[in-house]
Amino acid sequence: MKKIAILGSTGSIGTQTLEVARENGDIEIVGLAAGSNIRLLEEQIREFHPRLAAVWSKEKAKELGERIADTDIRVAAGMDGLLEVSTLADVEILVTAVVGMIGIRPTIEAICAGKDIALANKETLVTAGHIIMPLAKEKQVSILPVDSEHSAIFQSLQGNESRAVHKILLTASGGPFRGKKEEDLLDIRVEDALKHPNWSMGQKITIDSSTMVNKGLEVIEAKWLFGVDVDRVQVVVQPQSIIHSMVEYVDGAVMAQLGTPDMKLPIQYALYYPKRRDLPGERVDFWSLGKLDFEKPDMDTFYGLKLAYEAGRAGGSLPTVFNAANERAVRLFLDRQIKYLEIVEIIEDCMQAHQNIENPTLRQILDTEAATYDRINSRR
Ligand code: NAD
Ligand code: MG
Repeated sequence: MKKIAILGSTGSIGTQTLEVARENGDIEIVGLAAGSNIRLLEEQIREFHPRLAAVWSKEKAKELGERIADTDIRVAAGMDGLLEVSTLADVEILVTAVVGMIGIRPTIEAICAGKDIALANKETLVTAGHIIMPLAKEKQVSILPVDSEHSAIFQSLQGNESRAVHKILLTASGGPFRGKKEEDLLDIRVEDALKHPNWSMGQKITIDSSTMVNKGLEVIEAKWLFGVDVDRVQVVVQPQSIIHSMVEYVDGAVMAQLGTPDMKLPIQYALYYPKRRDLPGERVDFWSLGKLDFEKPDMDTFYGLKLAYEAGRAGGSLPTVFNAANERAVRLFLDRQIKYLEIVEIIEDCMQAHQNIENPTLRQILDTEAATYDRINSRR
C-alpha cells in the first residue's frame, strides 16, 4: 500500500486524487485536510478511514469532531492541523491541493519530514520556489508535478538529459475569452469568467485561466520545477487542450505529451511515478479531432501574463506580490466587489509600488503578502 495524505481533499484536485485512490485500490489515505466543507470531508473520512483529519475553520473542526465521534479518527484545526497532516508518520507522498500560498508552510514542513510532494498548489512554488527547491534537494525528496502542463513537461523529459533542453513550450487553452480585446472584457461577469472551455476546476484557478494569470503562474512554476529561466519558457496557445506541453531539445527534437483533458492522468502519474497504470477514460481520437491549432498568446490584452514574466525574471519577493495581489483581487471579483479588468490592474499597481527583496526568507514572503493585502485594502 502506498501511503498518502491530501491537503485540500474536498476540492477539484483533492476529490480526483481520492478517485484515483479508489480506482487503484492500493493507496492508503492517512490524512485529509480541508477548508470548511465538513459534509464532504465526513463522507471521505467514512470511506477512506484516515488517521487524522484537519479543518481550517476551528468551529467546523469542532462540529466535525462531534459528527464523527463514533470513529477513532482525530480532528485537528487551523494551521496546526495542516502542519500535522503534512508531517504524519509513514506518509510517503503529500498531495498539496490547497489553493493559494497558504500551502507554503505545510509544504516546507512536509519536505523537512522527508515526504515526497505531489504538487498541485502552484502558488506555493511561485512565491517560495527559491526555498522549496533547494530544501527538497537537501532532504532528497521529489517534487512531482500535478499541474497538467508540468506533468507533460516532466513526462517529456524522461530519458533525456536536462542540459540538452533548449526550451519549454508551455501550452495554454487561451481560456473562455481567447480572441477578445480589452473593450470586449469591460463588463465580464463572474458567471462568464467561470466558464472554462476544456477543464472543470476550482473557482480561483478558473478565473486565473480566463485572465491568463494562471499561465503566468505556470511559467514561474516551470522555472522552479525544471531550473530554466522564464525566458526559456514559451507560451503556445493550443485551444483544444490536447497537447499538454512540450520540450524542445538542442537538436531541434520536440517531445510532447498528448491526451484528452483529464487531471486524473497527471495525478496518477505523480502518485505512481515512474510507473504507469491503467486509467479508464476517453482517448485522443485523431480522426475526429482532425487538426490541432496553435496561436501566439495576446499579451497586450491579457497583460497579466506579461507581468508574470516580469515577476519571474526579477525573482525575489516580486512573484509573491504578483501572486498575493492576484489572490486578493480574484476574491474581490468573485465577491462582486471589483470589475473583471481590475484584477490585473490591481496586480500591476502592487508590483509597481513594491521594493523588491532579493532571496526573501519565509517571514519576508509572508510579510510581503500581508503588505500587498494592506495596500489593496487601503486603496478601496
Ligand atoms: P478548489 O478550490 O477546488 O479546492 C481547494 C481545496 O483546498 C478545498 O478542499 C478547500 O477546502 C481547501 N482549502 C482551501 N483553503 C484551505 C485552508 N486554509 N486550509 C485547508 N484547506 C483549505 O481548488 P482546485 O481547483 O482543486 O486547486 C487546488 C490547487 O491545485 C490550486 O493551487 C490550483 O492552482 C492547482 N491546480 C488545480 C487544477 C484543477 O484542475 N483543479 C489543475 C492544476 C493545478
Ligand atoms: Mg495547468
